[in-house]
Amino acid sequence: MPDEPPIVIHDTASGELRELMAGDDGSVGIYACGPTVYNRIHIGNARPFVVFSWLKRFLDARGLTPTLVVNVTDVNDKIYAAAAQQGIPSTELAEAMTAHYIADTDALGLGRPDHEPLATETIDGIISLIAALIERGAAYAVDGDVYFRVRADDRYGSLSHRDVEQMSQGEDDDLVGTGRKDDPLDFALWKAQKDGEDTAWDAPWGRGRPGWHIECSAMAEELLGVGFQIHGGGSDLVFPHHENEAAQTRCARGAELAQIWMHNGMLEMRSAGGASEKMAKSVGNVTLLPDAIAEHGRDALLLFFATGHYRQPLVYARETVAAAAARLARIAELGRSLADGPSPEALRPHRDAFFAALASDFNTAQALEALAAWVREARALDGPGRDDLVAMLSIFGLENVLEAGAEPEAADLELLTAREAARAAKDWAEADRLRGALAERGWQVRDGADGAELVPLR
Ligand SMILES: [Zn+2]
Repeated sequence: MPDEPPIVIHDTASGELRELMAGDDGSVGIYACGPTVYNRIHIGNARPFVVFSWLKRFLDARGLTPTLVVNVTDVNDKIYAAAAQQGIPSTELAEAMTAHYIADTDALGLGRPDHEPLATETIDGIISLIAALIERGAAYAVDGDVYFRVRADDRYGSLSHRDVEQMSQGEDDDLVGTGRKDDPLDFALWKAQKDGEDTAWDAPWGRGRPGWHIECSAMAEELLGVGFQIHGGGSDLVFPHHENEAAQTRCARGAELAQIWMHNGMLEMRSAGGASEKMAKSVGNVTLLPDAIAEHGRDALLLFFATGHYRQPLVYARETVAAAAARLARIAELGRSLADGPSPEALRPHRDAFFAALASDFNTAQALEALAAWVREARALDGPGRDDLVAMLSIFGLENVLEAGAEPEAADLELLTAREAARAAKDWAEADRLRGALAERGWQVRDGADGAELVPLR
């Protein structure tokens, strides 16, 4: 459609709205940082998964060809520590938590990203990127460790807008004063294997494993090249993670990793005192994603995410999700009363306003206002087609709410029974697998006081 507005997105690096410049073939590369798999993901961790899955759907709807990459960090200090605590190999913990993550996000019914690389499967790319940095004098090896020389990058700090002199990497505090690093600002690209670490790989500078930041630079480059369109993630990753990713690629390749750095705000919990606080394991206020889906249902939860601008904090509370559920119920009720087929021209401005809001820094909250206006006017017109409504809801993966009362088949009920049996036997991995299988068949499992029931996903 020639009259569509350009797509602009807020870029953390420039602090400005920047126009999305797709490749000549319409391709748009998106890399969003995924989970570190040492425990189950909470609903705050789900926000970037939802935002970037929706962005991909929107770009698809605009006729572009997005490729979404969401990595899995499966080698990390946190994984070693959690595995040691449980007395199991770190690979076993990482594999189990990766399976949980896949099943938990499958239940959102938004599909999978195009690529979900594992850090442990990208070791060759990581080693060659580190080698390039050493060759260019931007990194140095010390007794099996390799550190990035922050002062080799004259643009360091330009993403997070921090003064180099005021920074601390917040890692390796035990190294302070040992003279191991040339500069306290430098951070690890490769860490020599330590006692108690049960995974390691051979590298020219010694046996060990990669640091977190270099993993993402390597995985992004391997799948999207350098200079792809959008690098995303939670705003808590801007420093040091993304600042370091940007610096590594700049120094190794002489080019910027991504054109636009897009960051989502944090999900907040309302504390007993009524104030909001960031949802974090360290605060102890987390709600796991599967628990949130079980409590509110997948549909209400998705609409709740759309009620806030992605860059703003969003308060997760019973009332805010209930308000979203009520909004969705009104849309669904109207939508089910409409006939299939094209919507009347009179509704077109609202539909256009919906997509224009998404083109303008992916403003889902404003888009929902346009959707509400469409619904109000459609009700007044009494009886038009619902094509526009399907087009709008499908961006959020919510077109399913227009289909009334589909019934599960015998095979679905068998899977549900098998899942109940697995849960009773405390075989959580099998229960997760079966929940994933049901999600693939279009069913969400909702656990209630009277047992589990199946609710259509789409
Ligand atoms: Zn990352």
